[in-house]
Amino acid sequence: MKGPLKALVKGSSKRNLRATFARAAAELDELAGFWIGRERPRPEEAARRSGWKPDRSDEYCGLCGSTVGPGEASKSGCGSCRRRTLLDTDRIVRLGAYHGPLREWVRDVKYRRWSAMGEYLGRELGGVLAGLNEIERERAVVIPVPMPWTRRLLRGIDHTEIIARAVAGVLDAPLARVLARRHGVPQTQLPRSERRRNAQRGMFRRFRFGGWPLQELDLVVVDDVRTTGATMQAAVRRLRPLRPRRIFGAVIAVSGDTARRQREDHHPQKVTLRDRTNRVTQS
Ligand SMILES: [Zn+2]
Repeated sequence: MKGPLKALVKGSSKRNLRATFARAAAELDELAGFWIGRERPRPEEAARRSGWKPDRSDEYCGLCGSTVGPGEASKSGCGSCRRRTLLDTDRIVRLGAYHGPLREWVRDVKYRRWSAMGEYLGRELGGVLAGLNEIERERAVVIPVPMPWTRRLLRGIDHTEIIARAVAGVLDAPLARVLARRHGVPQTQLPRSERRRNAQRGMFRRFRFGGWPLQELDLVVVDDVRTTGATMQAAVRRLRPLRPRRIFGAVIAVSGDTARRQREDHHPQKVTLRDRTNRVTQS
């Protein structure tokens, strides 16, 4: 390799390394901020004090999880569901929109290892699922959306598994770690247009002797926050071939639904332009 080209390659790998370290440092910073000298309330107490309640099922769309107004959603979805694909879950259940106390709690579970709150939110989510009367208990299997082991090591908590375990406890269903994820760029650090591809590439099914016996069962895939739905779709893509009866998506919160729609309504051109730029960068 000639001089200038070599220098270019070397320079770019150095930049990548620097970016990786910057990312790791940011994650560590978040961990370091962890509840020094502060007493955490009991989760039930925190919920009572804030006046928080899980959403009723008519406050959001059962297919995509978006917040809806009265009468806006039907069995066939809402205005945001038009681009539904086979990769989607049969139904989405959520505790609420990703803002206010729910957002703080999810962040505290994830970045400050407040596992008691994770268990509390998981039990609440399990309660909502049980209240649907759509899942047959003897058919239910709970599957956590996995985290790459590298990130689990760095954070010291697999918050999604904690939530999923609590859901499984309420449903009296087994927890099956069917899925795993390769280390890659976290979804939250990517623009929307790249999340789908990134999620599909990173997700895979664990090997199991004799395969996964999930035929005709009701799978409950648990995640903390749903934003574009790309992660859930990647999970569904790996699970459908196992021929379950239905796949439910169960998330603590749905992010940016109404806010996103409003933003797109106000700046339609800006969004299109950004999408186009991203596509050019990808190819
Ligand atoms: Zn919808």
